[in-house]
Amino acid sequence: MARYTGADCRQCRREKTKLFLKGDRCYSTKCALTRRGKIPGQHWNSRKKITEYGMQLREKQKTKRLYGLQENQFHMYYEKAEKMRGITGANMLIMLEQRLDNVVYRMGIGASRSQSRQLVNHGHITVNGNVVNIPSYQVNAGDEIAVKSSKTGLTFFTELKQMKPAVFPKWLEFDNATLKGKVLAKPEREDIDMSIQEHMIVELYSK
Ligand code: SF4
Repeated sequence: MARYTGADCRQCRREKTKLFLKGDRCYSTKCALTRRGKIPGQHWNSRKKITEYGMQLREKQKTKRLYGLQENQFHMYYEKAEKMRGITGANMLIMLEQRLDNVVYRMGIGASRSQSRQLVNHGHITVNGNVVNIPSYQVNAGDEIAVKSSKTGLTFFTELKQMKPAVFPKWLEFDNATLKGKVLAKPEREDIDMSIQEHMIVELYSK
């Protein structure tokens, strides 16, 4: 399936929730969802009753869009989670959280997941001293994440050094001054602060 190339804000409006796809703009009054919360599309009928399948589909679409993945990539996480011990939905979310692009975003290095993915793709990020340019790379507890030393002079990173540290989850730490951080622990489901009903995604995929 082709990558979505439409407007980011349209995705939030479709899911009727903030997906934080545009960095600082999402926290400002310019947020399209705040200004224009209407679901996109000329023929949308808001009074139409949504079916159980419809609700499961929306939950899956919302989560997939939040992490910026395509259907086949997203489904792969479900397949892997299903084979693991424990709760499939929670395992799937934990793996999504452990993606390197998500960690770079959570540490506040990138303003959005898409920007963080670009930073990883362009070889700006190291894991334990080695450049890793694979956004889906799974980080582990103890991994040291940093901006590649030869890139720290770029304007983007000199500005980041001056910025207030982001509020990051308790399983991560990042120091803006040194542009270095660490994965302190494997995330738990409770650490993922989003209102995702992952059991609905599992129900949808297991049909
Ligand atoms: Fe979504 Fe951000 Fe656009 Fe608001 S500004 S609609 S949160 S992408």
